[in-house]
Amino acid sequence: CRGSLSQQVIQKYALERDSQPQTYGIGIKEIWEVPAGQCQPGLVVHSTGWPLDTQTYGGSFIYHLDNNQVAVGFVVGLDYQNPYLSPFEEFQRFKTHPEIRKTFIGGRRIAYGARALTEGGLQSLPKLAFRGGVLVGDAAGFLNVPRIKGIHTAMKSGMLAAEAVFPVLESPEAAEAATGGKTAYAYEDLFKQSWAYRELYSVRNIRPAFKWGLFPAMAYTGLEQYVLKGKMPWTIKHHGADHSALKKAAAARPIDYPKPDGELTFDRMSSVFLANLSHEENQPSHLKLKNPQTMLDVNLKEYAAPETRYCPAGVYEIVEENGKPQLQINAQNCVHCKTCDIKDPTQNIVWVCPEGGSGPNYGAM
Ligand code: SF4
Repeated sequence: CRGSLSQQVIQKYALERDSQPQTYGIGIKEIWEVPAGQCQPGLVVHSTGWPLDTQTYGGSFIYHLDNNQVAVGFVVGLDYQNPYLSPFEEFQRFKTHPEIRKTFIGGRRIAYGARALTEGGLQSLPKLAFRGGVLVGDAAGFLNVPRIKGIHTAMKSGMLAAEAVFPVLESPEAAEAATGGKTAYAYEDLFKQSWAYRELYSVRNIRPAFKWGLFPAMAYTGLEQYVLKGKMPWTIKHHGADHSALKKAAAARPIDYPKPDGELTFDRMSSVFLANLSHEENQPSHLKLKNPQTMLDVNLKEYAAPETRYCPAGVYEIVEENGKPQLQINAQNCVHCKTCDIKDPTQNIVWVCPEGGSGPNYGAM
C-alpha cells in the first residue's frame, strides 16, 4: 500500500486521472500471549467505533490464534479531522474496554507493528495498466474494506495480470494483433469480468457512507447489504484526499489520553522495541522534508504538530533548541507504515526507501 515505486508510476502516467483520490486507514497491531483459557482458537471479533468519536471512521479486529496467542489491531481512517487524535492512543484505549480487557489481562505482548491500508475501493482504483507494466494487489488498492480482507483480491489481480501478459510472452505479434496494440490493457478487461470486481462493486458505498458519521453509515450499510444486497444503482463519492481533511488546531478539541498502565496499555517506545527494527544508524534519513520550515510555520503553528500523534512509532518529536521549537526526526524508529507520507497536511513529508532493505522485521505479524 502506497509503495514508493507504484506512487511514482501512478504520478508519471497520471493513472489516477479518472478515479477519486485514494483514501487510507492506519492499522496498528499487537500479538499477545495470553493465559490458557483466555484464548479460543478460531474466534474472530470485529468492532466499529469505540473509543473513536462518531465522526471518525475506524474499528478493531481480534483473531484468536493457536498456542494461546491473540492478534489484536485497530484501524483509524486517515480522513480523521481532529489534529489532536492519536491512532496509537485510541488503540491502547480500545484494549481497556471491559469486554476486551478480559482477553488480555495477565498476558504479555510479543509483537507490534503498523501499516497503512488502501480503503478507497473501486472508486479509487487507478488505471491498472500502462505501457510496460501493470499494478497488482495493494499497489492498486483491492482491499475489501468492510471485511478488512485483501489478500484474496490481491492474489486474483496477480493471476489476471499474468493471464493478460502471458500471451505476449508466447507470441508478441499475435497478441498485439489480437488487442490492437493494447496487450497489457487486457488485464483491466479481465478484472472487470472477474468475481473480484463484482465483490468490490457490491461493497463500494460502505466506506464513503462513513463521511455521514457512524450511526447514519451503520443504518445505510444495513439497508444496502441486507435489503438491497449490494445491488444499488448509485455510487457514493469519497470525502476527498486524506491530508486535506484535518481541521486547524484552533477549531479542534484537544484529547486527553490516559497514561499507559504497563499491563494493557503501553507507550510508543516500548511498542517499537517489539517491531524488531533495524536501520543502519548512519544512513541518510529516509524521511525527507520538501521544506523543513513548513513543519514549524504550518504544522506546528496551525495544526499543533499532528505528526507527533499520527506516527505510531514516535518518529516525529518537537524539541526545544536554544529556547526555540525544532522538529526532531528519529528515522531509525520508523515502522514503515507510510502514514506521514499520506496524512501530512501540506504533503511536505516524502517517504523514500531506506538503505539495504532495513526496517521492521515482522515475524508472527
Ligand atoms: S515515520 Fe511515517 S512511515 Fe515511519 S512509522 Fe512514522 S508515520 Fe509511519
